[in-house]
Amino acid sequence: MYCKIIPENCIACGRCQIIAPETFDCDADGIVCFRLDTAAERENICPALLEKVGQAVRRCPAGALLLE
Ligand code: SF4
Repeated sequence: MYCKIIPENCIACGRCQIIAPETFDCDADGIVCFRLDTAAERENICPALLEKVGQAVRRCPAGALLLE
């Protein structure tokens, strides 16, 4: 599955980075990005990380994360 980030929706709460730090990071303004490729807006999520990423998607208060 792929995770897509919508940085313009992000309110820089930091929740996704706490739940799934292997996948998510943030820029200098606290806006979400992917840890391994900070310029990417979509990333393939390996099965081992999918549960945490799913939790982060469900708990994002701003609708800035999608699984597809
Ligand atoms: S949980 Fe959502 S709003 Fe909070 S930092 Fe992550 S993407 Fe942004």
